[in-house]
Amino acid sequence: MRPSILNPLFGAAANLPGVGPKTAKLLERLLTDGSRPARVLDLLFHLPYAAIDRRNRPKIADAPLDTIVTLEVGVVEHRPPGPRSKAPYKVLVEDETGDVLLVFFLANHHWIEKSLPPGATRWISGKLELWDGHRQMVHPDRVLDAEGFAKMALVEPVYPTTEGLFQKALWRAVDAALAKIPALPEWHDRKALATPSPPSFAEALRDVHHPQTPQAIAPETPARRRLGYDELLASQLALALMRSKIKRSPGRASMGDGHIRRKIAAALPFTLTESQRVALAEINADLAAPTRMLRLLQGDVGSGKTLVALFTMAAVVEAERQAALMAPTEILARQHHQTLAKFGTAAGLRLALLTGRDKGAGRDKILKSLADGSIDIVIGTHALFQESVAFRDLGLAVVDEQHRFGVHQRLALGDKSAAADILVMTATPIPRSLVLTYFGDMDVSNLREKPAGRKPVETRALPLERMDELIARLERVLANGARAFWVCPLVEESEELDVAAAQDRFTYLREIFGDKIGLVHGKMKSRDKDASMAAFAEGATQILVATTVIEVGVDIPQATIMVIEHAERFGLAQLHQLRGRVGRGDANSFCLLLYKAPLGAAATARIAIMRETEDGFRIAEEDLRLRGEGEVLGTKQSGLPGFRLADLPAHGSLLTLARDEARKIVEENPRLEGARGESLRLLLNIFERGEAIRLLGAG
Ligand code: ADP
Ligand code: MG
Repeated sequence: MRPSILNPLFGAAANLPGVGPKTAKLLERLLTDGSRPARVLDLLFHLPYAAIDRRNRPKIADAPLDTIVTLEVGVVEHRPPGPRSKAPYKVLVEDETGDVLLVFFLANHHWIEKSLPPGATRWISGKLELWDGHRQMVHPDRVLDAEGFAKMALVEPVYPTTEGLFQKALWRAVDAALAKIPALPEWHDRKALATPSPPSFAEALRDVHHPQTPQAIAPETPARRRLGYDELLASQLALALMRSKIKRSPGRASMGDGHIRRKIAAALPFTLTESQRVALAEINADLAAPTRMLRLLQGDVGSGKTLVALFTMAAVVEAERQAALMAPTEILARQHHQTLAKFGTAAGLRLALLTGRDKGAGRDKILKSLADGSIDIVIGTHALFQESVAFRDLGLAVVDEQHRFGVHQRLALGDKSAAADILVMTATPIPRSLVLTYFGDMDVSNLREKPAGRKPVETRALPLERMDELIARLERVLANGARAFWVCPLVEESEELDVAAAQDRFTYLREIFGDKIGLVHGKMKSRDKDASMAAFAEGATQILVATTVIEVGVDIPQATIMVIEHAERFGLAQLHQLRGRVGRGDANSFCLLLYKAPLGAAATARIAIMRETEDGFRIAEEDLRLRGEGEVLGTKQSGLPGFRLADLPAHGSLLTLARDEARKIVEENPRLEGARGESLRLLLNIFERGEAIRLLGAG
């Protein structure tokens, strides 16, 4: 489906000239999540974060100290250390204004003798220092002869890298990748780019990877702006195409008479919060309108989103249509099913659960009931996307914890009915400015208020050294029946390490607490996971050691203690999500942030905010303030797919531009036809938003 002209960009980096199998492995570790080999495009989009300036070429006497300089020198003499001496190998060099000692610790004598023959002229580049009143340069970065100097980059890009992968190897690979860029047509309307004569896509990449000045890698340069705008336009265009497809397909009014909702409301042991009422009023207006609903419902864990979803689904069922609720994990799907059944079944709603685990006759029965309409509401995981799942008349798709799904998955559920309304729920509130970036033009309802009677979670921070005290306290409260989550350190690089850490902690705590300890992690079979969760829910185990798999939505009201080990490694949003697992029942709850001292400034700020507030919207804003938009969107922890080229703090204005341009394109050329349309399809493919193209034909 991808135009073949782009194939060179999607080829494996391993096939580039000068990239051997060892480098290829390292590139894979550096540039991918390990699920696929690194590609040419990944290299091109791996931007330098700094540039070393070697243009400063003073005479020795004028050379500034502690900055990088490039000197043209004559080699005077070698001063090797005595045998068995640990002293460094020194070489004296000079020009007509003064001299410098080159200093090599643990040196390879042979290399020094070969590179710096006495009497020869050499170019050396590195940082000059004063030591004992004498100018010296420790381990010059470059020692070159005339030929080498002629080829030396005066401004040198510095890339983020991984252990064992040297800058030199990266330069070689990036250069080979640059040579693969095919001739591509311009996809931007020249006017839309804020620069008078913007570089082409290929020129921009070359400018960034071969900086002529240290400033050339900064996000404000025309090259970086161009690339940032490319990426933003691709994402906004994909969103705009999706929205237009949803809005283009005529919706239907799905508003029931209220008979089911009245029964649910009458049976509720509480009244709805003001936020819930407002959100439902907004949703009901969408349902009643003859256009399709595309609404985001944001609210902290425990703010009552599931209940809002239940009322929304009930309204649709009253109108004799069906509803589907899709959760990101099996655990969550089960939990939703329980909650919804608790309030819904008595009111006459017919519910079913459908996950990947349902097979054979049981599954066939559910599918049949969905097709003939004898089930009103189905709750499930992505198993709901499968083609064999057909509805009699799907009126509403609710997608929980949405950002874990891709755009195309969201669409697949929408496809089950051309006119289904879509309600997306997320428990990770995002500040307003980011909603646009990530979700595009979606309507938004916020549940800012917590249901009454919820007790605050007391949050404390404790250095890891004091874990013994914590364990002593846990022994006491566990004796009184308390239940605690114990979340283990997040190891960015690898899920295996996560699991190992959790296992170690489990073993350690089992020595103390015996069989009161349970364990759950992402690598367990789902049956074992469920068993572990169930044992904890029933109280058979009282401490559940876990990796962040419990982050999303797990509801065990009896759990009142949340221990987060190495809290300094978690982002704010994630800490907040984890804390949300407790404080759901009537008892007082605690969150203990175990950290490794000393804390850096950012981690200190995060922990202070955690202690100060439980408002997810406030926390999201603080997170944005602390890290900047690019970071918030860019990390794995945000759960949002990040941008690779766009730097939102610097390119924020381009985002608005991209959104406006995307809207204009979709209005004027909704099927991306003609030369501009073709080139925009290339853009979408380059940024891997090709799935949006699938929408062009349909609807
Ligand atoms: P969310 O999906 O936003 O995490 P839920 O809908 O699961 O939140 O609600 C969390 C808990 O609060 C549930 O036990 C639910 O029954 C309860 N709840 C929801 N709305 C209210 C309310 N208005 N008053 C009191 N409790 C509520
Ligand atoms: Mg929920």
